Amino acid sequence: MKPKLKDFYRNHIQVSDQVIRIRTDLARLEIPDPDGIIYGFMNQLTGRHTIEELAGLCNLTEEDVRRGVSMLHNHKLLESDTTDTYGLTERELQRYRNNFTYYSVHESRLENRYLFQDRLKNSSVAILGLGGGGLLATWLTAMGVGRIVGVDHDRVELNNLNRQILFTEDDVGKRKTDVVRERLQAMNRDINIQVVNRQIDSAHSVKDIIADVDVVVCVIDTPPVQASRYVNSACMQYRKPAFHAGLRHGSGFLYRVVPFETGCTDCLCLQSIRRNSKVFETIKSIANGELDSRTFLNPSFAPNVSLLTSVLASEIAKYLTKHSPMFPLPYTKINLQDMSFTHEEINRIEDCPSCGRSRVIGAEPGPLDALVTLGTEKMTVK
Ligand SMILES: [Zn+2]
Repeated sequence: MKPKLKDFYRNHIQVSDQVIRIRTDLARLEIPDPDGIIYGFMNQLTGRHTIEELAGLCNLTEEDVRRGVSMLHNHKLLESDTTDTYGLTERELQRYRNNFTYYSVHESRLENRYLFQDRLKNSSVAILGLGGGGLLATWLTAMGVGRIVGVDHDRVELNNLNRQILFTEDDVGKRKTDVVRERLQAMNRDINIQVVNRQIDSAHSVKDIIADVDVVVCVIDTPPVQASRYVNSACMQYRKPAFHAGLRHGSGFLYRVVPFETGCTDCLCLQSIRRNSKVFETIKSIANGELDSRTFLNPSFAPNVSLLTSVLASEIAKYLTKHSPMFPLPYTKINLQDMSFTHEEINRIEDCPSCGRSRVIGAEPGPLDALVTLGTEKMTVK
């Protein structure tokens, strides 16, 4: 082992008042160093010396050096011990060069930058809804996710072109799935792009699509709420982690559901109904066709769709590669006025019909009315 301090952090070391300070967006560290020994030790971590040699150079015991290395490793300040490229091809090493630079500050002695890319390469993601989801699929394609399954049943319309930048005016009238497959495959020939032209109108209609993927993304907005509940129900049955996202007037949201760990879509609905049942009465009316859903729920503006899908892609990459922690809480709201983010818990609800005690595995979610009724009754938090 020849430990090497990451160059990124070397440039951020400050010494004053006998204290070493490293302050970056990724790490904040203060190490008392009254005699300057630790500073000298860190300067020797160039990847050229063994533990034994470092002890001699810095006038420390080998045990001291090991302790120092371990402390810096725990703060992710050291480069990986290995340069193994995990079977990535020469072409992939070139294509994803800037990914490796990005991962380099996140790697540790045990997990190097190439391992993160290899994890993406061996991952599969199903994206339900290729409107905004088409943009998400673009980011995942560029990043190098190995298999992407896109699902939609719409044709490209002129009014999609204000934000769905995969499509051109010549595509109007074509099936979104056909265009997405062609564009994404042309963007990255090394990955597997699959599409399914299908309307998601039940949990059953999702099951065969998600059965063999690692992550499910639901960005379908019709019917409101109920579409997410279909996907949620299927994901619970197959224990698939899912990300859901959407835009409202003035805000965007995304949340992750890890089956039986976080609260699920129905838990979130019950939690929201509990806070403001009026919101769900409105959504129920939209779902029943009493209000025009497009007027109420589709304020999709290009920069906001771009922002939301980028944040989503970043969270999915963190989940798949484990290169850095995801958002601290599962529900994230983005204020589109000041671009601030707030994170919230999604509590698991004991009587949740999808993940609670009385759930029926494989069942279709009941009507929204039933959920609103349940939400206005007594709620128990696990
Ligand atoms: Zn639940």
